[in-house]
Amino acid sequence: MIRRFLTFFMAASAFGQANPILGEDTVKVSDHVWAIMGFPNIGIVVGSNATLVVDTGLGPRNGATIAKVAAKLAPNHKLYLTTTHFHPEHAAGEPGFPPDTILIRNKAQQDDMDKHGQELIATFSNRNAQQKELLAGVTLRAPDEIFDKEKTLDLGGGVTARLLWFGGAHTKGDELIFVDPDKTLISGDVVQNKVVPNISNDGGTPSSWIAVLDQIEKLGALHVLPDHSAIGDGSLVAKERAFIVDLRASALDLERQGVSAADAGTRLTAEFKTKYPDWPINSVANFVNSVYAEP
Ligand SMILES: [Zn+2]
Ligand SMILES: [Zn+2]
Repeated sequence: MIRRFLTFFMAASAFGQANPILGEDTVKVSDHVWAIMGFPNIGIVVGSNATLVVDTGLGPRNGATIAKVAAKLAPNHKLYLTTTHFHPEHAAGEPGFPPDTILIRNKAQQDDMDKHGQELIATFSNRNAQQKELLAGVTLRAPDEIFDKEKTLDLGGGVTARLLWFGGAHTKGDELIFVDPDKTLISGDVVQNKVVPNISNDGGTPSSWIAVLDQIEKLGALHVLPDHSAIGDGSLVAKERAFIVDLRASALDLERQGVSAADAGTRLTAEFKTKYPDWPINSVANFVNSVYAEP
C-alpha cells in the first residue's frame, strides 16, 4: 500500500504536482557543478570568472532564488543562463534573473518556445492557484544568443560548458550541457534516473531519442545531473538507452501481432513493473503510444 502511494506520488511529481518553490540549499555534483534539487533540479556551473545556470524554475520568484544562490557561490561573476527545453518549470523563471544575464539556447528549442511557450504557461497556470501566481505576467524574452548544434562557453580557469543539440527526444529542442574537465552531463529530461521516458506533444520520437542517446554515450560522462530525479554516474546513459530500446522493441512486437495501442500500454505496464522492480513505474502507456505513432 505504501509502495503504491509512493509510486503514485513520484509519477505525479513528474507532471508538476511537486512543490514548485525552490530552496537555497545546494549539493555538489562535481568539482565545478552544484545543484539545487527540486522541481526541476537546477545546475550551476562555476568557472573562475563566469557562472552558467541551467534551467530557471517555475516563474520569476524561483529565477531570483537561483540567481541569489549563484551569486553566493561566486560573487561578481558574469552570468550565463541556458535552459534544457521550453517547458515552464525549466524556462519561465527567466524574468527573475538580473537584466544583464546572458541568455543562450539552441534554435530548435527556441522554435518550440515560439510555437508552444505561451500555451504551456497557460496550461501550467490553470493547474492551481499557486502555479497561477508563480507564472503571473510572465513574458518570454528572446535569447541574447541562439546556436544551431553546439556552443562552447569558457567560464574561466579551464572550465568549459558545451551546450549541445543532438536532435529530438522529450521535446524537439532538448539541449544537453556537458561540463569539462568534470565530465558532468546536465541531461534535462533526456537521461533520467529510473523515470519512465515521456515524449511531449510535438516532441521527438522513440527512435530519435535512441539516436540522441547514442551521441551522448560518446561524451563519456562520469556524472549525470538529471532534472527530475537523483544525481547518478555515467551509467545512467546506458540504462536510459537500454530501457527505451527494450520498451520500443516490446511495443513493436505487440503492434506486429495486431494488439491495440491501449492494450499494449496496459500489458507492458504490468510487464515492465516486474522487469524493472526498482523503477517507480506508474504507467508506460504514453511511451507505448509514441512507439505506435512513429511512422
Ligand atoms: Zn518537460
Ligand atoms: Zn522536465
